Amino acid sequence: MSVSCVTDDKAYAREVGNTQGDHAYLPPETFEADTPCGHYKGVTDQVKMSATPGFFKFPLCLGDQVSLNGWLDNTVTSSRPMNTSDNGIPRVVIVGGGFGGLAAAKALRRAPVRITLIDRTNHHLFQPLLYQVATSVLAPGQISAPIRGILGKQSNTTVIMAEVTGVNKEERHVLANSADRSQVQIPYDYLILATGQRHSYFGHDEFERFAPGLKSLADAVAIRNRVLQAFEQAEAEEDPSRHADLLTFVLVGAGPHGVEMAAALAVLVRTTLRSEFRRIDPLSARIILLDMANRVLGTFAEGLSEAGRKHLEDLGVEVRLATALIKLTRTV
Ligand SMILES: Cc1cc2nc3c(=O)[nH]c(=O)nc-3n(C[C@H](O)[C@H](O)[C@H](O)COP(=O)(O)OP(=O)(O)OC[C@H]3O[C@@H](n4cnc5c(N)ncnc54)[C@H](O)[C@@H]3O)c2cc1C
Repeated sequence: MSVSCVTDDKAYAREVGNTQGDHAYLPPETFEADTPCGHYKGVTDQVKMSATPGFFKFPLCLGDQVSLNGWLDNTVTSSRPMNTSDNGIPRVVIVGGGFGGLAAAKALRRAPVRITLIDRTNHHLFQPLLYQVATSVLAPGQISAPIRGILGKQSNTTVIMAEVTGVNKEERHVLANSADRSQVQIPYDYLILATGQRHSYFGHDEFERFAPGLKSLADAVAIRNRVLQAFEQAEAEEDPSRHADLLTFVLVGAGPHGVEMAAALAVLVRTTLRSEFRRIDPLSARIILLDMANRVLGTFAEGLSEAGRKHLEDLGVEVRLATALIKLTRTV
């Protein structure tokens, strides 16, 4: 089987069909492929939930038209002949137990290889629902699952919790730090790096200390605590003139994630928190969503942007468009 490569999300969505505006949900697809490790069947289940297919096209499409074995060839870091372990079984090291790493491990479940999947955490995280943890809708355990549990029935795979700090391509090993050991060498014949991405502040890294990213469960819990703490502080504050300061939440960026967060905060205020306090009225909280673009959800079709803006405003979110954040300061 081959997967054609397209260069942007819109073209991708058109190509795969089943579109919703500019976005598509892909059903899992089975395939068979000859890979450097032998012939196997797999399922492209990693693309199933994608509302932004661009995130997923990279493992599938490295060229104009590339087959799965082409992808594996490209993913392997070196083209030198295999230097297999003593018993002759190729060692595959996968770094990262996110969507990419898990998909690679599952695709190789019947391959005659010995897989070591290394992740700095012991759980797989469903990042698209982090905002629900950050707004108290879901508990951390509802959006994460032990990587060992997911791959438990896969006898050719061992899961190691460690942080990979380097790759020695010449000697074909990765260097990993675990709880009690550092710079441990883990040898590989094939290496798959699936370590994900970091969030970006678009050239304003100084914003990070005011608004840390949302990439891990720890980040989500920290944001949840800050939000709830603001309401607690306001309730404890005798001076009503300070309540507005404590209960003003500004979200910068009206992409899918900013829109989700703003809406979830608005719902939190209107439902869970509504009758919890005596001194303050949670409904008085201001939730401001700003973006330098002139519409929310800028990558979506215009009709969806407009519907999204209207829905946010119905929930009480103040949407300020064509407004760029240029500076952040902390008041005492
Ligand atoms: C808040 C949020 C909302 C999102 N919403 C959507 C959505 O609605 N739809 C959609 O399609 N996509 C969404 N995404 C994007 C989607 O979650 C990512 O595209 C996807 O998680 C990427 O998968 P990955 O395997 O490449 O990386 P990740 O899922 O980030 O996994 C990388 C893994 O590598 C591990 N790792 C990293 N570095 C190291 C290291 N040095 N040593 C050991 N382990 C390491 C990490 O612990 C992690 O487990 C969202 C992302 C976020 C953050």
